[in-house]
Amino acid sequence: MGFRFANVAGRSALVDGDGRWYDAERVSGGSVSADPMSALGSADALNAASSMVADATADGSLADADVRAPVPAPLKVFGVGLNYAGHAAETGVELPESPVVFTKFPSCIVGPTADVELRSETGDYEVELVVVIGGRTRDVTPENAWDHVLGLTVGQDISDRALQFAAKPAHFDLGKSRDTYGPIGPVVVSTDHFDDPTDLALRCEVNGDRRQSDRTSNLIFSVAHLVSYLSAIMTLETGDLIFTGTPEGVGVSSRTFLQSGDVITSTIEGIGTMKNRCVR
Ligand code: ZN
Repeated sequence: MGFRFANVAGRSALVDGDGRWYDAERVSGGSVSADPMSALGSADALNAASSMVADATADGSLADADVRAPVPAPLKVFGVGLNYAGHAAETGVELPESPVVFTKFPSCIVGPTADVELRSETGDYEVELVVVIGGRTRDVTPENAWDHVLGLTVGQDISDRALQFAAKPAHFDLGKSRDTYGPIGPVVVSTDHFDDPTDLALRCEVNGDRRQSDRTSNLIFSVAHLVSYLSAIMTLETGDLIFTGTPEGVGVSSRTFLQSGDVITSTIEGIGTMKNRCVR
């Protein structure tokens, strides 16, 4: 069955194939929590409620709603660097032999239409597939890893390049964790909504100019590998996020950084599109 989950004005919502949203607590008769973080803990209730949407009256169009981060308060947010060969090449480094993992502090997470508040001349965009973990996940094999993925969403791993490389070794965690530097959304789509969740087109435009375009099948370390790898280090929890890495075309490689007024459009096939405006 599966579900498309959104956060509308702070409340759990289900979204149908035509972009209409339904208050999840209302359509489920209370079996889905109005609180998004609580709701994400029960995939069964979300699936059941999703099947009731066909007979329900929509609350409105998602395009007109106050859509916020579908996972507003994750416990952990991982980023993965250099996970597409083209991006590794443009940064001039060799392909990693094990995943290059850093932290985005959860306080950077904002919604799919939120402003990105630039704080320097070196803000940069990175469209990424974001994995949402479902349930306590520890020591899973790559073969079983997808069973622990609640769904997928779109993310922007916004980076302040000067800050990122201000220290040696570079501190990715600080450079990618400024307030508003982690837009996600617009929806979390359960994995059973995809013909093949390991091969999705993703792209990024700035002011309508195509900057990045690739497919998630080109990830060096796959979703299954990343979930298994991280779960062998620490227990993953419902709502933990993994930004899986960005394809080539980031601004730093062409020295075209984000400016106030720029609009970043980030799209992944089968999930949707985020539009984030930059302000200074
Ligand atoms: Zn990234």
